[in-house]
Amino acid sequence: MMALEKFSMGVGDRFGRQGKAQLAAFKLAKESGVDIVPVWNKSHREHTIVKTTPDAVRAEADEAVRAGDWKGPYHVDADHIGLKNVDLFIASSDFFTLDVADFIDEAPETADLDAFVKKQSKYLGYLEIPGIDQEFEVSRTWLEQIGRRFLLAVKEAGKIYRHVLSAKGSDDFITEVSVDESKAPQTPVEMFFILAMVADEGIPAQTIAPKFTGRFNKGVDYAGDIKQFAKEFDEDVAVISFAVREFGLPANLKLSVHSGSDKFSIYKPIRETLQRTGAGLHLKTAGTTWLEEIIGLAEAGGDGLAIAKEVYRTAFGRFDELCAPYAPVIDIDKRALPSAETVDKWTSEQFTHALRHDLACEHYNSNVRQLLHVGYKVAAEMGARYLDALDAHEAIVARNVLENIYERHMKRVFIGE
Ligand SMILES: [Zn+2]
Repeated sequence: MMALEKFSMGVGDRFGRQGKAQLAAFKLAKESGVDIVPVWNKSHREHTIVKTTPDAVRAEADEAVRAGDWKGPYHVDADHIGLKNVDLFIASSDFFTLDVADFIDEAPETADLDAFVKKQSKYLGYLEIPGIDQEFEVSRTWLEQIGRRFLLAVKEAGKIYRHVLSAKGSDDFITEVSVDESKAPQTPVEMFFILAMVADEGIPAQTIAPKFTGRFNKGVDYAGDIKQFAKEFDEDVAVISFAVREFGLPANLKLSVHSGSDKFSIYKPIRETLQRTGAGLHLKTAGTTWLEEIIGLAEAGGDGLAIAKEVYRTAFGRFDELCAPYAPVIDIDKRALPSAETVDKWTSEQFTHALRHDLACEHYNSNVRQLLHVGYKVAAEMGARYLDALDAHEAIVARNVLENIYERHMKRVFIGE
């Protein structure tokens, strides 16, 4: 098994141009004494929209590491894959995020369910998990319910894992199990039994991505009960360390937080838990870099600003089409969006102030930010014209990409301010 280090961060790069700028943030973190491993992740959905292939992510990562003279580990994550599309990712990836959220609530075979309940019946009664004050009452009915909800999904993860294992011909890769795109959040005690199933399937999971309480909208701050999140995160960490001992899972198993970019209000509780417990974390931040490209172009003025405005105008006009695939993970107040005509008159400063994720800035507009977040399809359609603008304004874009990852993310989550 290829082992994942304690702290790792998923960086996505929709157009494959910011690998070096992203890596520079990891180098700064290292200089400040904190090792964070870069993982370049891109999902099948993104590849389809931008019309790229998984091989391009591997090429970008290798080139960024070569050019940046990075000596540490790094990985390429086949993000949110299933049996339908995993084959495209086998050669290029060494990290596989097995997404089985779609299989939750599908009925398992009766014999499988019976076997699960029988095996876990040693936990019947009151379950104590070290690090959690409350005890959990585990009844046979409740175990059956858990089995009905999650067993088939975890069995599906087992199928994908074994498929990757045989296609690669070795276990030299990292496995994540993700259920973050499910309808309901999983409680810590549910996660305990999900991990029991993961172990039974023989999946050497090193990261697990549950769905947490609250909304993890794309590119903007967390929306929900911060105290409740903090408690849940803390308990999930306790559950993981207990599950590792109980079920013999990899000792470095840790949480993976998806849609993790820009969730500024929960970074402090996360960091406090990591510091107090010594736990590791994988934080996925895919979409935030693309917004820094638009900010950089807008900041550059001239033709850069014109492209940023054109992306806004087109995205505004195609609101429904662009938002539809992301409906569960965005919350845009359409009435609070400025018209394309208004944005056309904006200066560089007005554009960057509206878009840059600075909660202290009175001109920041989370609606503009979310619309542009899903608007990368528009830039993808511009093709060479967009990519040429990135090249022309490379330095200014790179500075924004680096600052965003290092200052607003790494410092707050892993390093401390
Ligand atoms: Zn996810």
